[in-house]
Parts: sequence; structure tokens; C-alpha cells
Amino acid sequence: MIKCVHCGEENEPIFTYCLSCGKPLEQSLSSFKPRAAPAGKGAGWNLVAVRADGGLGTEYPLIQGANTIGAKGSQVMVADDPRVADQHATVEIGDDIAFLKDLGTRHGTFVRIRGERVLADGDQVRIGHALFALELKRPRPQPAPDGSAWLGSLGVLPDHYGRVLRLGPEDVVLEAHVLSKPEVTLGRTAGDILMADDPFVSSRHAAFVRSGETCTLKDLGSTNGCYLRTRGRVAIHDGDQILLGHHVFRFQRNARA
Ligand SMILES: [Zn+2]
Repeated sequence: MIKCVHCGEENEPIFTYCLSCGKPLEQSLSSFKPRAAPAGKGAGWNLVAVRADGGLGTEYPLIQGANTIGAKGSQVMVADDPRVADQHATVEIGDDIAFLKDLGTRHGTFVRIRGERVLADGDQVRIGHALFALELKRPRPQPAPDGSAWLGSLGVLPDHYGRVLRLGPEDVVLEAHVLSKPEVTLGRTAGDILMADDPFVSSRHAAFVRSGETCTLKDLGSTNGCYLRTRGRVAIHDGDQILLGHHVFRFQRNARA
């Protein structure tokens, strides 16, 4: 399977365009190298720090090719954040595509979900201060040939297709929320998953919605959004917001380019 770098959809390798978003799947191959821009043309892209009040701060112009983000010796410097590594992530700018890649860090690199996003088993999402992981249920075992149920297969949980785990330090599971309804909502004042003590969470923030055997995360118009942890190289687009540690950057075209 080829995992689309634009939308995350898994596609059969016989296809050349993603069935979900229509972008060329060639860009999703690990061997794909973005074309450099013609000589003399600037990269035309910036990372702009987003301040805690939502306003925009320092602008970091990006160069063609690889730009690093991190605490030391990087093009885009992030100081005073213990969850940001010296070399944390790269933004690779090509002529017609840009990629974000986490450099194997402990705390990860996240991209804000626009509207909704299909999640895969093991995906991690930052919402407010909290980190959640999606655990999709493995296919239900078939009854044994003599018709008896497998020991331990009954009476433990209601019918469900997965769980949302709230992770603490060292990935310890703090809470487990069973996905047994078509829609499991999360919010500060309302929802199945309540986050009453987190000021960064909107009153109705997000919903985990069943879609077949998997789960779609829907942002319900929250102020601070939901951020998906990147796995491997992902394409980023104009206006995307990137989160590392507690720092948010907006990837955008340079208006002066
Ligand atoms: Zn796609």
C-alpha cells in the first residue's frame, strides 16, 4: 500500500493518483525527490510563529531544499522548550511541493487537522494539553470450529470498534474511552470525553466519528484545533499549522515573493 502524503489514505500501488484526494501518488513514494525551483527563484515560503494570543510573531524565510527546525543550529530556532529537540524536524521545499518530516523525536511533530481527517490505528492527536492515541480493534476472532466462544471474548466491553487512549508521561495510559457509539464527542463543558480543566479546549471541541472499520476525527470549529502527529514525510500546504512542544508555526507563502 502507498500512504498518501497529502491525506493519509492508503492506496493500492496500482493507482497513480490518490483515490481520496486526487493528488499524484508518485509524491508519496519514499524515493520521490521534489524538483528544485528554477535558479534565481526564491523559495517563497515562510514559517511564521503563532503567538499564544493567536497573533503572528517572528517570520522565518525558508530556502529551497531542506530547512531544519530545532533548538540548536537550525534555520528555524525554537528555544526554551524542553520538548523540542536540537534538530527536531525538517521542511523540504521543492518547486511544487513541500514536505514536513519529524527527525525521530521523543515528543513528535504535529499538523493541525483541517475540518476532519481519517485516522489510522496508532495515530496520535494533541488536543489542548492532552495527547490521545487511537487504538482500533483487531478483527473479531471467529468462533472455534466446535462453535464455542474464545475464552475472554464475552462480557468485558460493549460492542466497540476501538478505543481513544489519553497518554501521560512515558506514554502511560491515563484514561481509555471506548468507541462504542457512532460519534464520541470531546469538549470542555460537554461531551463523552470531558476536559474541564484545560483552558485550551473549546466547550464542544471535536468528535471521533465511526467510518466503517475506522475513525474520522472531526474538529467542531474549535479555537485551538486538533493536531495529528506526523508519521514519516507528509506534504504541507499554504496555511497549515505545525506544532512542536508548545510552539505553533504557520506555513505560508511569502506575500513579498
Ligand atoms: Zn490523498
